[in-house]
Amino acid sequence: MIVKKTGWILLILLLMGIFPVYQIFTQSSPQTAAVEEIVSSPAFKSIESSIEPGETLFSIFKKHDLNIDELFAMKQASASVHRLRQVHPGQPYSFTVDENNCVSTFTYGISENTTLKIERGENGFSAEKCEIPFETRVLTLGGRIDGSLIAALGQEREEIMLAIQVSDILAWDIDFNTDLRTGDTFRIIVEGLYLNGDFRKYGKILAVEFVNDSRRHVAYRFEQDGRTDYFDEEGKSLRKAFLKAPLSFRRISSSFSPSRRHPILKINRPHHGIDYVAPTGTPVSATADGRVSFIGSRGDYGKLIILSHRNGLQTYYGHLSRFAAGMRSGKQVQQGDLVGYVGATGLATGPHLHYEMRQNGVAINPVRFKAIAGEPVVASRMPQFQQVTAALDQTFSSAVFYETGDPESRQNARTLAMRIEQMNLLN
Ligand SMILES: [Zn+2]
Repeated sequence: MIVKKTGWILLILLLMGIFPVYQIFTQSSPQTAAVEEIVSSPAFKSIESSIEPGETLFSIFKKHDLNIDELFAMKQASASVHRLRQVHPGQPYSFTVDENNCVSTFTYGISENTTLKIERGENGFSAEKCEIPFETRVLTLGGRIDGSLIAALGQEREEIMLAIQVSDILAWDIDFNTDLRTGDTFRIIVEGLYLNGDFRKYGKILAVEFVNDSRRHVAYRFEQDGRTDYFDEEGKSLRKAFLKAPLSFRRISSSFSPSRRHPILKINRPHHGIDYVAPTGTPVSATADGRVSFIGSRGDYGKLIILSHRNGLQTYYGHLSRFAAGMRSGKQVQQGDLVGYVGATGLATGPHLHYEMRQNGVAINPVRFKAIAGEPVVASRMPQFQQVTAALDQTFSSAVFYETGDPESRQNARTLAMRIEQMNLLN
């Protein structure tokens, strides 16, 4: 307990004090490019590089004039740990070889989190998998919406993943496809995972603030009973019984090719439902837990799915081009599950999703429905929750938030991120 308490104090001190100071005084250093490095010492030589397209370990051995027999021995040694048959372009590797050009150690990056290490011992090679010991730092990023969230965050893979994480946290309150307004602003406090001082990827989002159409939404990450959730300032869960929209930003962002990544979505309200104008094939998700009570074609609705939920509530998804695999009458679905795809079946002038919500058969306005579905922070954990939010609020009010849409500023955010080991206490 004492250790834990000390950790908390350190965490809060770091967030409150060192963070801004550190950011002001640390100089940025240029990022090093991934070039092949060969370093020689009298006895050992090391080779560090990454797999190029079309390269195999065989060709790499040839290139460096290494003994092919050793490659076979290495493959054999690692067979039970990781099969070295295929290596993938872009993955890092390194060798150390002795004065006779015999391999002493070999490492290969299997994934972002795992390295294969092969070492020569007295009885030949032995292999093991190692978890990559990332160092966690904390980044503060911000931006202004002019178009989509992805446009504001940046088009690199890591930024797209971050945008999706943000959209998931706020999916009950903000429809990231249609609710965003030019001039909306956001700030994110997020872990960055570093290796040898280089930024590798984002970790957990610790807090996010989003001002949408002049309304401020804030989410703090907090764990209780072994479950992590996001809460508002008062400790209420952000989870609601119904998602804000049946077209999920996550599904759309990951289902369209980069050139079509952000299909223009519009909403129309010509009647008691909401029409989402979206390309044919756009995935449609269940907005709440429920059961399929109708699936098939019905008049003007075309291909339609009706889900029944608690309290006499139903949701309708019409004009679908097709249903998701496995959908059938009576099937239980979870909030966010794929139910079908946008189309133009029935009475539709173009592809769109007709979405409506009914209570005891009467159409109601989905936007008004805000029943909180997640557990709030329990009273006994409130003091810890308040410590966490106080530390994060302090960061919101005093840290520099880097404009993430601007590559140079984003680079600064990565370079100047706070070094902090204590952050895992927030888990
Ligand atoms: Zn409609």
